[in-house]
Amino acid sequence: MDSEGGRDFLGGRGGVGGRGGGDRLDTLQITVEKTLGSKEHPEFLENILLGILRSLERMKECGRRYRLWHHTVCDSRWVVRLRCEQRWCPVCAQVRSARVRERYSEALHGGKGERLYHIVLTTIPVRFTGDWVEDLLALRNQVGRLQSAFRRLRQRKVWIGGRGVYSVEVVYNKGAGWFHIHMHVLVLARGWWDLDALHKTWREIWLRMGCDVRHRPNVDVADKGALKEVLKYVTKHWELDGYGLLVVMGALWNKRLIQGFGGVRVTDDGGVEVVCPGCGAPYDGVTFNWRDVTEEEMRQEVLSGVYWADYWEVVENRLVLRRSWGRKVDKTFMSA
Ligand SMILES: [Zn+2]
Ligand SMILES: [Zn+2]
Repeated sequence: MDSEGGRDFLGGRGGVGGRGGGDRLDTLQITVEKTLGSKEHPEFLENILLGILRSLERMKECGRRYRLWHHTVCDSRWVVRLRCEQRWCPVCAQVRSARVRERYSEALHGGKGERLYHIVLTTIPVRFTGDWVEDLLALRNQVGRLQSAFRRLRQRKVWIGGRGVYSVEVVYNKGAGWFHIHMHVLVLARGWWDLDALHKTWREIWLRMGCDVRHRPNVDVADKGALKEVLKYVTKHWELDGYGLLVVMGALWNKRLIQGFGGVRVTDDGGVEVVCPGCGAPYDGVTFNWRDVTEEEMRQEVLSGVYWADYWEVVENRLVLRRSWGRKVDKTFMSA
């Protein structure tokens, strides 16, 4: 690694595990393991805890494993750094949020007379108890209720919106002792909102679920930054302290946090189309060979000179050659 912000010789960035984040991941893992071993948990909860454990494990490996590719038709060989693709990983979340943002901005292009609104819907805070598993369950429950309250709101007359996207965001206030969740909604609509009626309806929906939500929904015409605002949460989780991070991971485990509605469907999966850099042929599952290796093995393979140590980057769902290292490789290894 050189000093340039963790950039290594492949030109990519090291994962969270390699930048002092490794200790943190270890600590989190120990907490989850202890919780798992402390007593019997209901099956669904145990699955969540095991899922978190696996996710932390993958984050440790983020950017530290490599895939060696070989296209047998044109005999090109190249190296790609592997990412953990975990939504909690600050490195991967940034890549993903840029990708998702792009896809959503296309889907939310308004027609004639349509305006894009940014609506923020809140509910009451969840006080924390100090038992992270209990807090996880309480918060998870509240996230579910927020999503169903929003579904109900969209069926009411006061909802003039059409297609759109929402995201769920958790705010953790350690000092005050609560978690707060709210929802950012971007929606295309014709005409103006009846704000008082919207507030009244939102409150009424929640009262039926036993919560008195007095906060007024906030409605603005979406500006250029709105999409970024709506999708920004994905990169923020890592900044929470250990307790907050584990609660939020559990509360949001396997829940879709960014969701299109009214006909908007955008996947935020990491599906990447592989194209041979030598001849441009797309991946066919037959003439392409690959195997995953550790950093050490990768260095050996690249040093032997058969593989191109090129830096590839995902752009618009394709692996694109950004910079060719070519003959510089040997020199880099000499100085390493
Ligand atoms: Zn990652
Ligand atoms: Zn090829």
